[in-house]
Amino acid sequence: MNKKKRYNQVIKCILRPEVTDCLECHRRLQRCVTISDRMIITLTQVIRVVHCGYRCPQESCPGRKVLYRSAEADALALPGFTFGLDIVLEVGHLHLREHKTVDEIHHSLSQHFVLLDQTISRREILFLFEAYAALLRAGTEVIHDEAWKEQVRRNKGIVLSIDGIQPDKGNETIYLLRDVLTGRILHADNVTESTKDRLKALLAPVVALEVPVIGVISDAQPTELQAVAELWPDVPHQICQFHAIREAGRLIYNADHQVKTDMRIRMQERTHTYRHEWHRHLRKVEESKEEHEQEITQFQILEEYAATVEGALNIDGLKPFGYAGLEMQEALSKIQTSLEKLEKGGSGQPNVQEAPDAPQDDCELT
Ligand SMILES: [Zn+2]
Repeated sequence: MNKKKRYNQVIKCILRPEVTDCLECHRRLQRCVTISDRMIITLTQVIRVVHCGYRCPQESCPGRKVLYRSAEADALALPGFTFGLDIVLEVGHLHLREHKTVDEIHHSLSQHFVLLDQTISRREILFLFEAYAALLRAGTEVIHDEAWKEQVRRNKGIVLSIDGIQPDKGNETIYLLRDVLTGRILHADNVTESTKDRLKALLAPVVALEVPVIGVISDAQPTELQAVAELWPDVPHQICQFHAIREAGRLIYNADHQVKTDMRIRMQERTHTYRHEWHRHLRKVEESKEEHEQEITQFQILEEYAATVEGALNIDGLKPFGYAGLEMQEALSKIQTSLEKLEKGGSGQPNVQEAPDAPQDDCELT
């Protein structure tokens, strides 16, 4: 149920180039254009992606013409596509590897999309499959693309991005090799074992292009690092910031997630019971037709407190730095402070002192 709630939200995401300094004069790049501002539906979320393009600020710099893009933004979806690249790969995988029919794929994706509050048509599946086939052909076409080669000459080479995506938790990874500077996909291939030698074979089509490789961006996988180091020993290799940060944050995120789950388990049922009880009392008092105004107000307040505590227990985290446990703790502390104030200020009134004890007790667990 929580999953559904989170997926319904559109996440806004601003993506900037991974390369931060001009490759020619090493000045800090400046934002010059919004390459795209669009909605992308991936297998797990709906994202509004703002893709920012950067340029060297120095008028006289020979590298001034290069528009720097975000490899991560290009990896999310193909140009002009609302459905993410992961869905394109999923469709291709289901059709070619698992031999599912278009109707079966449509059924399975439609069910999946219910969580995201999205739909997909049979026609769109066919279209995505065509895109998948085009991706697999990309490597053979790029070698004959003279206009692209001219662009590369002007950029003095390519910045290679290596991106491995696992369509499902199996041992198959689909690798996409892309030039970050032009956004062009150079090669795509399925790999079942990510050994150094297999990755070197995967990178062979890029070597065959015979264009200078200025830099490489990849995730932190050791065999990737080794393969790149052997093929292009002197080329700077940067670990994708997104992957590096996600990896660095993983331990804390997991620890926080555990704390959040423990807190939720300990408090949720009791809070729910209290809330239910107060609601029942409130109804009873309201129905008794006697003068109970003060009591009614008290129960309303208590119920509201319980609802706020329940709300705090349902806070969700977001990788890598949205810690739900911490946020929950903060929210509950605020409620506790408020209850303490209530306790001090309301000492003269009946019930107020006794009743808030219940959630306050709970809050002390934190
Ligand atoms: Zn420059």
